[in-house]
Amino acid sequence: MDIPRIFNISESAHRIHNPFTPEKFATLGAVLRMEKGTRVLDLGSGSGEMLCTWARDHGITGIGIDMSPLFIEQAKLRAVELGVTDKVTFIHDDAAGYVSKEKAGVAACVGATWIGGGVAGTTKLLARSLRPGGIILIGEPYWRQLPSAEAVAKGCLAGSISDFLQLPELLASFDRLGYDVVEMVLADQDGFDRYEAAKWLTMRRWLEANPVDDFAKEVRANLTSEPVRYATYTREYMGWGVFALMAR
Ligand code: SAH
Repeated sequence: MDIPRIFNISESAHRIHNPFTPEKFATLGAVLRMEKGTRVLDLGSGSGEMLCTWARDHGITGIGIDMSPLFIEQAKLRAVELGVTDKVTFIHDDAAGYVSKEKAGVAACVGATWIGGGVAGTTKLLARSLRPGGIILIGEPYWRQLPSAEAVAKGCLAGSISDFLQLPELLASFDRLGYDVVEMVLADQDGFDRYEAAKWLTMRRWLEANPVDDFAKEVRANLTSEPVRYATYTREYMGWGVFALMAR
């Protein structure tokens, strides 16, 4: 069980697989006012940076589920590096339908809401693992500028304009689901650069190390087209943030 290979290559050197910087994750960890020992569930936990740093900085305990064996391995190494192996557990699995045995104080899906079939479905799924009064975290893209045409949405690698909302509409959608938005931390363009531009050097190095790999053509094409595509579309049109929700 694995994710498409291009991500395991282009994001193999990423600690954070979304447009958040370490500072943004630190801000989010602080503003949630988590008590020591808070249980945090993270569906699509990537390389485990959120859980590992929050275990170190706030004494939380965490369970992360991710479908990429590579990212799970990196998360485990990060836990060793930060001295939090007694606090965090990383499980290689499909997180679709995952409900934790013990209820969490914080249940998160940060940049992987397809796991529950979208924002509404993922919120519902996370709610099943949440203790009463707990906080749900949803990390999700939104349109900073509404695309003027479907071609622009495609340029942002979205299926269509309707895949995402603008920020006020996204916040209103949480309201309609019956949740108070109690905090939010938004990424900025510098954070998008860290997420996207960091892939380019990783792909270049991978190509140098794997010139005859079957996949080299695809990686080469990606590296050639990505900087201009990213600057033309994603960097100008996409926003991204993590929204903290409490059921009303
Ligand atoms: N939350 C992490 C990773 C976000 S990227 C971070 O902020 O760094 C999306 C992640 O979802 C990737 O790590 C990918 O491997 C994982 N993923 C994709 N589909 C999944 C699924 N069905 N179940 C579990 N993880 C999945």
